[in-house]
Amino acid sequence: MADGSAVPPPLSIMGVKTTCPYCGVGCGVSGAVADARTLSVSGDKVHPANLGRLCSKGTALGATVGLQGRLLEPTSNGKAASWNDATALVAKRFKDTIAKHGPDSVAFYVSGQLLTEDYYVANKLMKGFIGSGNIDTNSRLCMASAVAAHKQAFGADLVPGCYEDLELADLVVFSGHNAAWTHPVLFRRMEAARARGQKHVVIDPRRTDTAEGADLHLAIAPQSDVRLWNGLLAHLIRIDAIDRDYIAAHVNGFTEVTAALEEFDQSPAAVAADCGVPVESLLRFYDLFAAHERTVSLFSMGANQSAQGVAKGLSILNVHLATGRIGKPGGCPFSITGQPNAMGGRETGGMANTLAGHMDFAPADRDRVARFWGAPDTARAPGLKAVDMFEAIHAGKIKAVWVMATNPAVSLPNAGRVREALERCPFVVVSDCVETDTTAFADVKLPALAWGEKDGTVTNSERRISRQRALFPAPGQARADWRIMADVAQAMGFDGFGWASNASVFREWARLTAYENTDRVLNLSGLSALTPEAYAELLPIQWPVAADGQGTARLFTNGRFQTPDGRARMVPTRPKGPADAVDAVYPMSLNTGRIRDQWHTMTRTGLAPDLCRHAPEPFVEVHPADAEAFGVKDGALARVITAHGEAVALAKVTDRQRPGGLFMPMHWTDAFASSGRVNPLVAPNLDPTSGQPEFKHTPARIRAYRETWKGFFLTRDSLPLPSGLNLVWRRIPQDTCQQHEFAGRGDEVERAALRKALSKGLAGELVTYEDAATGARRDAWVRDGRLEAVLYVTLSGRLPPRDWLAELFAEPLLSAEARSALLFGRPPGPPVDKGALVCACLKVGAKVVQAAIAAGAASSDAVGAATGAGTNCGSCRPEIARMIAATASVPAKEPAHAH
Ligand code: SF4
Repeated sequence: MADGSAVPPPLSIMGVKTTCPYCGVGCGVSGAVADARTLSVSGDKVHPANLGRLCSKGTALGATVGLQGRLLEPTSNGKAASWNDATALVAKRFKDTIAKHGPDSVAFYVSGQLLTEDYYVANKLMKGFIGSGNIDTNSRLCMASAVAAHKQAFGADLVPGCYEDLELADLVVFSGHNAAWTHPVLFRRMEAARARGQKHVVIDPRRTDTAEGADLHLAIAPQSDVRLWNGLLAHLIRIDAIDRDYIAAHVNGFTEVTAALEEFDQSPAAVAADCGVPVESLLRFYDLFAAHERTVSLFSMGANQSAQGVAKGLSILNVHLATGRIGKPGGCPFSITGQPNAMGGRETGGMANTLAGHMDFAPADRDRVARFWGAPDTARAPGLKAVDMFEAIHAGKIKAVWVMATNPAVSLPNAGRVREALERCPFVVVSDCVETDTTAFADVKLPALAWGEKDGTVTNSERRISRQRALFPAPGQARADWRIMADVAQAMGFDGFGWASNASVFREWARLTAYENTDRVLNLSGLSALTPEAYAELLPIQWPVAADGQGTARLFTNGRFQTPDGRARMVPTRPKGPADAVDAVYPMSLNTGRIRDQWHTMTRTGLAPDLCRHAPEPFVEVHPADAEAFGVKDGALARVITAHGEAVALAKVTDRQRPGGLFMPMHWTDAFASSGRVNPLVAPNLDPTSGQPEFKHTPARIRAYRETWKGFFLTRDSLPLPSGLNLVWRRIPQDTCQQHEFAGRGDEVERAALRKALSKGLAGELVTYEDAATGARRDAWVRDGRLEAVLYVTLSGRLPPRDWLAELFAEPLLSAEARSALLFGRPPGPPVDKGALVCACLKVGAKVVQAAIAAGAASSDAVGAATGAGTNCGSCRPEIARMIAATASVPAKEPAHAH
């Protein structure tokens, strides 16, 4: 078959077991294909990661498998090309560049969306045969700091715990981790444990949904985590709540760490002041930590995405090593990954500073890998990490780059400069399943398989290897990533890339982990001889996998680590604060992150209208005091400005945001809301060791946008912002149409230009209403009795609900009543406004939840019983609880009708 998979998928499949392509929980999914591209999914009840549960994103997978926006044939300079020609061109350009400028003049930028087999081949090609370390993964943006901390403390990038520990723990500390939104299925498991008495502490500048119901929330000042964790360790030493026997038997560095702690005032008052939290809260955290032997400390992007991310990770590991809370049921530090196969990339050497199989560039490791591959030119030194790689492209040092399954034109910090770099690069190859902001810069586009077509393995946050299995045949000419790379490698003249199937690639990879392995924990020897059938049927299993095929739940249970002397290393860390301090020009701290229902740059979740209704457009959260000081109104557009760029987003004024802080989600792209892209605003400040950017803090300011007019345009097809217009333009997918919201600060000339641009190509009868007094204009295009498009513009700021108009697009024939209502600008009956979608799984809107609360539902369970909301994945339950609390604290009032 086209992608070389071992077992071709039949056209109609019932109940294929695969793995969710989104977060690092790695939930098992059962997919049932009804016909060509129609899929229904449910949670795999026997997959150990989720035991049948799925979150809103996983539940909506069926809505994302269409072929809209797919790359279906190779192209060269915008023209269709055969695979042979495209492969030959990529091979020739890379070979020529290497011949002229050396191996370090080329680079691969890859992704946690790749399967382990893909990753393995990419590394073998770049590091083994091209002979450069210049391959880095977008996991650099989320996990690199944790990797570096693990390597320093444990001797290798090893995650000690497993998901069962999250249920066995008596205390879970969430450090910069909004699990309720980013890892919802795991959070549900911990909520269940909490009902049995587990305690939750959340360390986060924002009162997230995870923090909302926690026993304790420490809303720390930006980048004060190291101070907090070091203060905890000093306190535990002070009260003798550390495990001196464990330290003596298994840990080095305690004396050095103690000495470093003594350089600072570790009194609770001083630590609390530096972290910006009440001393009582700090002491409560200390007491909870001291009192609970079974403690899991989860850490994620809030810890990692920092110019001192490695120090944050090490501070957490230090506390666990000093208390011996590692390698025990319910006790471990636990770095949780963002992407479905970030771990697979880390294992196979997807990062520029590692080789495959957790081996490094130390001569013995490097020579072992070179021998295994039969590749004498294997790279001898690390390559450039993501941000530095794009700087080198910008500077002309890297002259050919291949971007695989990722969208750096949106996702890297200072993204405007990344676009410049891609624009300047003499040769850009992008292999992806869809068109993205990055494919716009590609000389050669290569169509890759999407989730639902891919076939291989991924590793989740607890080291569990699971199969992704193909549900659909490859569409068009799309091919598996590993196969695309293997073909290019062969066209470049390299041996060792002639695998017949993905099972062969996996076997080779597993053999490498076991090759001359005397002390490496990452060892898949028990999987190194899988037959194609056994590979096809592989059940989820946690590595290391012993020769007898047994997996391993927990690491370090015997207190032995992967260091030369087998002892863990505590490493001194010193708090530094943010890389760039706020000042009079940029007095606030801009924090970025994820929202509940979207994934990365929305290339897939943006296809599911239900996932676009909880937070339909870019927003910025701001504390009420800051909003008042800067004249920003809730629900109005606001400008967020940093030294690197400017974005416009809807202001959400909320005391869940810390005073002095701003938060913007990172998902929006040119395809949905180019003016709401936040990554161009982020400073490219890096952790000096891990190279991970400080996405969680950039000095910023906020101002009201103050549009002079605004409106919306509903049509059947999506439209980008018409060129030449300076508008804030956002696209929101609906079930029946595409909703485009816009606002501007121009005059009638600009409004006329927009009307002209939007009406181009629209056919049918145009009905128009204009009110010069209020500046309102309403246009509707009706063709053969069906609504084709609606354009409403206002100067006064009042616009009708969009839900009612969106529903008219489903009507085969507009009634006379509906036609006149279009011009009146209000529905014939009561207004239809479902409000934001609270429960994306069961499509329950805010209005329905509010009605249930008004009717007496006084708990999340009661609202669930009345409406269904929160009864599937449960990630909306904290929001429902908040709505109940808000209703209880506000006197009843008449519902507002105006939108
Ligand atoms: Fe997918 Fe949600 Fe499970 Fe993450 S928690 S793997 S996004 S279903």
